[in-house]
Amino acid sequence: MRKTIVAGNWKMNASKESVNVLVKGILSGMSSVGSEVIVCAPFPYLSQVESLIGGSSLMLGAQNLNAKPKGAFTGEVSADMIKDFGARHVIVGHSERRSFYGETNDVVAEKTKAAIDAGLTAILCVGESLEEREAGKTEAVVAEQLNAVIGLVGIGAFDGIIIAYEPVWAIGTGLTATPEQAQSVHFFIRNLLANSSDKVAQNIQILYGGSMNADNAADLISCPDIDGGLIGGAALKADDFLQICKAG
Ligand code: PEP
Repeated sequence: MRKTIVAGNWKMNASKESVNVLVKGILSGMSSVGSEVIVCAPFPYLSQVESLIGGSSLMLGAQNLNAKPKGAFTGEVSADMIKDFGARHVIVGHSERRSFYGETNDVVAEKTKAAIDAGLTAILCVGESLEEREAGKTEAVVAEQLNAVIGLVGIGAFDGIIIAYEPVWAIGTGLTATPEQAQSVHFFIRNLLANSSDKVAQNIQILYGGSMNADNAADLISCPDIDGGLIGGAALKADDFLQICKAG
């Protein structure tokens, strides 16, 4: 039985004050939440969140990493640095990194490998643009994104990966995929993995991301192949985020 996970991606939205309020608010409602819950904070706030969550069940993640373990890469952050602040997860291949920072499928695969090698769980984001969906290329695009990672790390390493299916057209737009649209791609992803390992396919958690909110979360998460959500905008207010966590 796969556990439901709800992960918040704060993106570049935080201040010491807002992080304090948000994490304390989430912690105050955690006892009534059945899902595993992760908050992915911007790098400067990892330490603050680490202190705030203490020994609670709330888990900490980062939003990006460099594929190299260390060295002369000014401004970059390695997997070990992220781990040093108690984070257990890191988002890899978010569509904003792919589109604004030119991260190709190969770069995403290298970053996923670096995360896994360091013992972090990678939250690997895949998803098609509106143009690709309208051209009937959704499955081909998602397959290419996944196959790049499978090719580098091998299917066995997917034990250390959570997949987030995030249609680009649904991220931050209010245009949530319908449960049918999302379930169909999640089913496709699970089948693609099953071609290499049925065990991995059955165990891997596949989250949906893209304008998930308190109103639509339960319908999405009740689909058989949707194991939770990666949440952007609705992860910035404790009450909204907790409602999604409870839906899971
Ligand atoms: C995201 O950025 O991963 C995301 C799902 O954002 P939003 O929930 O705001 O669409």
